[in-house]
Amino acid sequence: MTIYDSVKKTKLKFEPLREGKVSLYVCGPTVYDDAHLGHAKSALVFDLLRRVLEAEGYNVLFARNITDIDDKIINKAKELEISTAEIAERYTDAYHRDMAAIGVRVPTMEPKATESIDAMSEMIQKLLDRHHAYTISNGDIYFDTSSDKNYLTLSNRQSSENVSRVDKVSEKRSDADFALWKAVHDEGVAFDSPFGRGRPGWHLECSAMIERYVTSGEGEYAVDIHGGGADLLFPHHENEAAQTRCATNHELAKYWMHNGFVTIGGEKMSKSLGNSFFLKDALKAYDGEVLRFYLLSTHYRGDFNFNEEDLIASKRRLDRLYRLKKRLFGLSSPIIETEFKTNLLEALGDDLNVSRAYALIDELISSANEMLDTNPKDKLYRQNLLSSLHTVENLLGFGAHNPYEYFQFGLDEKAKTEINQLITRRTEAKKAKDFAASDAIRDELSTLGVSIMDTAEGTFWEMRD
Ligand SMILES: [Zn+2]
Repeated sequence: MTIYDSVKKTKLKFEPLREGKVSLYVCGPTVYDDAHLGHAKSALVFDLLRRVLEAEGYNVLFARNITDIDDKIINKAKELEISTAEIAERYTDAYHRDMAAIGVRVPTMEPKATESIDAMSEMIQKLLDRHHAYTISNGDIYFDTSSDKNYLTLSNRQSSENVSRVDKVSEKRSDADFALWKAVHDEGVAFDSPFGRGRPGWHLECSAMIERYVTSGEGEYAVDIHGGGADLLFPHHENEAAQTRCATNHELAKYWMHNGFVTIGGEKMSKSLGNSFFLKDALKAYDGEVLRFYLLSTHYRGDFNFNEEDLIASKRRLDRLYRLKKRLFGLSSPIIETEFKTNLLEALGDDLNVSRAYALIDELISSANEMLDTNPKDKLYRQNLLSSLHTVENLLGFGAHNPYEYFQFGLDEKAKTEINQLITRRTEAKKAKDFAASDAIRDELSTLGVSIMDTAEGTFWEMRD
C-alpha cells in the first residue's frame, strides 16, 4: 500500500519494519468531556487504515492511549466536585460507547497515563542521564530543546514560531523547552516518582508508552506508523519525536499520518443536531453506521465540512446498500475471493482513496440490482455478490446491521413491540382467512408509516422515509 507521509510530504510505498507486522500508534483522547465529531473522524480514519492493513495480510498492533490525568480533567473534577478518577472513568466509558456506535474496533492495547507513570519516569531518567533534560528549583523537569539538533525538523518550523504556545517559566533555558514532569507540593493530584510527587507532561506519555509497550527495540524506528489529527503535528508530535530520539537509539516513527479538521457548516447547523459538535448528539438523530459512512466519505487529509445536507445524501447512498441486502436476506454462501475485493483493496491501499472505494460500491450495487432483476437464480453470481458485500462490511464497516432493523432506526422498543404485535395479529387474521381484518391492520400500519413485506422468510417491516 502507499501512504502519504505528512512529514516527508510525499506518498511512499509502505514497507514494514518487520515482515508481516505493523505497529500503529495513534494519540488517543484526553477524557474530560464527550467525544466530538473531530475525535470521531480521527478514530474512523485510523480504524480504516488498520482494517486495510489487516486485509493486506499484516498482523497489526494498534495502540491508542487514554490520557486520564491532565489539567482539563482536574478542572472538570473541581467543577463537578468529584474525583479526577471518576471524571476519567465516566468519559473513558463514554468514549468507548461512542466509538463502538460508529464501528471503530477496539485497539490491540489502550494504555492509560495513570498506569504508566513508571514508564514515564524511566524515560525522564534517561533524558536526564543523557543531558537532554534539567530540573529547576521548584522540582519541575524540562526537556532541553537546544540539546536536540533535530528539534523542529518534524514540523519543519523556525524556532521563533513556537514560543507563544509554551508556558513561560523564568528558569527555563529556552522558551521552547517543555515540561516532562511538574512537581506538586500541595494536596493536589499527584503521583510518586523518583523525582518526588508530581504529574507527567502530556507529550511524554506517548513516547514513554511506545517505548514500554509497543516497540520491539530493534532497528531505526520505534513504530511503523504514528497517527493523529493535523493539530497534533506541532507541538505534540514534534516533542514526542524529540523525546524518543534523545532518550533512545531510534527515531519515533517511520511514517507519520495526520488527518484534517472537522468544521461545522456555517451557522446553518441542523435542527436535529442543534449546534452540537458532540458525537453522542449526532447518534440520537442518525444510525452510527450512517455517521461512519458520512465521516469517511471524503479523503482523510482534507478538512471535513460537516453539514446535514451531505449527511442525508450519505444516508441515501447507504440506504441503497441496505435495500440490496434486503433482496439477499436469508441467503448464505461460503466467502470466496472476488475481483471486487481486489479492486476495493487496491483503491483503499492507495493512501485510503475512499472516493474510488465508494464509487466501486455504488457500481456494485447498481450492477447487482440489474443482475438480480434479470437473472435472480444465478447461484455463482449470488455467491460472488455475497462475498463482495462481506468485503465491504469487513473493510469499511458498512452493512453490518440486519437490513430490516436498519430501516427501523429511531423507533424505541415500545413502538417496535407495538408494530410487531400488529404484524402478529395480521398474520393470524390471514391464517384465519379474515382478509377484512388483515387489510385493516395493514392500513393501520401504513398510517403509522410502516411498510410491510411478506417474504418466504416471514413478514418484515420498515419505516418509510
Ligand atoms: Zn501523542
